[in-house]
Amino acid sequence: MFPPAPEDYGSRVPLVAEASDLVSIGPDHLTREAYLTPAAARAWADMRDAALADGIELIPISAFRSIARQEELLAAKLAKGMTLEQALEYSAYPGHSEHHSGNAIDIGTPSARHLEEEFETTPAFYWLTTNARRFGFFMSYPRDNPHGIAYEPWHWCHHPLA
Ligand SMILES: [Zn+2]
Repeated sequence: MFPPAPEDYGSRVPLVAEASDLVSIGPDHLTREAYLTPAAARAWADMRDAALADGIELIPISAFRSIARQEELLAAKLAKGMTLEQALEYSAYPGHSEHHSGNAIDIGTPSARHLEEEFETTPAFYWLTTNARRFGFFMSYPRDNPHGIAYEPWHWCHHPLA
């Protein structure tokens, strides 16, 4: 078991309930079945199709993630020698990841390494910054975001009412 979250953590990175209503969006980049909420899954399918029609391939890297899986990810970072503070820049504390909601998805594209800042240099990223909002997807962690989370140009979250 790892140490408790820093005292101010919850005010910077809110608690996120684990989704119970999930549907498959098909295989991720490692051919594991990926899941989102029904609304986010529909929006993702529409967005992926629209991108493809513009010659852009959007690859699902990581969608819904359970709190238990988040614990494993964070524990792996600590096992590699990161401090909790360092690890929390890259992985949310269990219970605080947007991926628990089933509305967030990490997106890749063939021309860049996955989950690396270089994603921002791709046509896919440019396409997303211009078009994603039409489908209700927004980038959660821009540079210097108030959550203290590293810049994640690949991480997009569906906000159904936005
Ligand atoms: Zn993410």
